Amino acid sequence: MSGAEHSKTVVSLRGVMKEYAGKVTALCGVNLTVREGELLAIVGPSGSGKSTLLHIVGTLDRPTVGSVHIAGHDVAALSDRRLSALRAKHVGFVFQACHPVPGVSARDNVAEGLLYSGLPRSVRRRKAAEVLERVGLADRLDHRPHQLSGGQKQRVAIARAVVGEPLLLLADEPTGALDSASGAVVMDLLRDLNREGATIAVITHDTEIAGSLPREVRIRDGEVVADVRNLTSVPPMEPGAEL
Ligand code: ADP
Repeated sequence: MSGAEHSKTVVSLRGVMKEYAGKVTALCGVNLTVREGELLAIVGPSGSGKSTLLHIVGTLDRPTVGSVHIAGHDVAALSDRRLSALRAKHVGFVFQACHPVPGVSARDNVAEGLLYSGLPRSVRRRKAAEVLERVGLADRLDHRPHQLSGGQKQRVAIARAVVGEPLLLLADEPTGALDSASGAVVMDLLRDLNREGATIAVITHDTEIAGSLPREVRIRDGEVVADVRNLTSVPPMEPGAEL
């Protein structure tokens, strides 16, 4: 593979198997490639291995067998310390029920996502305000979590995950704890971020959400059983856009 092609591959999993203690095989022989700029769903029923896959892709866990490359780095070759650094730099996480730190403003919650960036506090706070504006919360910068709705808290969580401009955003059931209207706003936000260039993988058991995204990786009993492109979800071309 040439260097240029390699740099466009954000995630590469080959023959990944994960066995937990007690001989539970959560993943068996998963191959997955995610390229820069993709927006994909990882969909499957409860217990199919989605969270395990997210943990491995996000370098929170290592496979029992198989290789994992993130941003061109072979995860197996990195010490835990280097892996933490890779994760902090390249991966943003959004979980189902994100709990911003209570008593801390939305802006400072987001700025915390840049704590290890080496940037001065004033710059971290400025960037946090910019990203909160981007997720539609410009008028909520000083609100504490208890003053925000569930959907707004989830948008704060997304802002926090993307403030460091990670190469990859991993969202685990990001709408799972939300009503359908707030869930739709969160999904629209993820689509917008993707249009602006973010690479995003969304874990879901919701086949409707999965079907609305450009790529759908279906997982069952720890195996990828389908990897499909949903052409219908491609947004209409802007007038005057070139092919
Ligand atoms: P999903 O996210 O699709 O619900 P998981 O990845 O959480 O699936 O789980 C896949 C399988 O691995 C399940 O059978 C689950 O019980 C098992 N599992 C998950 N985490 C652990 C663990 N830490 N120890 C043992 N078994 C686990």
